[in-house]
Amino acid sequence: MSAVAEIACPCGAVVVRVQGEPELQFYCHCDDCQTITGGAYVPVALFGADAVLSVEGPTETWTYKVLPRQRCAVCGCGMLAEVPGIGQFGIGGNRLPAGMLKPQFHIHCRYAQRPVKDDLPHYASLPEMFGGDGRQVDW
Ligand SMILES: [Zn+2]
Ligand SMILES: [Zn+2]
Repeated sequence: MSAVAEIACPCGAVVVRVQGEPELQFYCHCDDCQTITGGAYVPVALFGADAVLSVEGPTETWTYKVLPRQRCAVCGCGMLAEVPGIGQFGIGGNRLPAGMLKPQFHIHCRYAQRPVKDDLPHYASLPEMFGGDGRQVDW
């Protein structure tokens, strides 16, 4: 049995229970994430649908452009989003338990506010595993 982690919103009304480690983690620089979070880019952890054991508490679902996001109905914090068509859930990496956040690459760097220089791949759009062209920016 792999460990179960509880991911709570800041007010504590919503708790998401996940099992095991994320399948993938990355930083997303897309304009959608920027608008929703107010951040220049956001860490995202993808969990398989069966790794999300439960979502407890009052949530509401809201769609900005394409992706329906579930947020806490009390404090408004975004909690998770089911990525259409791939059977995975994205959870904000900044909500993960300490030590679990380990992004592997950056996506949608063409929207980046500023270059982020690290040793990870920086995809202009999407990597090929996500159906993109795999092209990287030359930061
Ligand atoms: Zn994004
Ligand atoms: Zn809350």
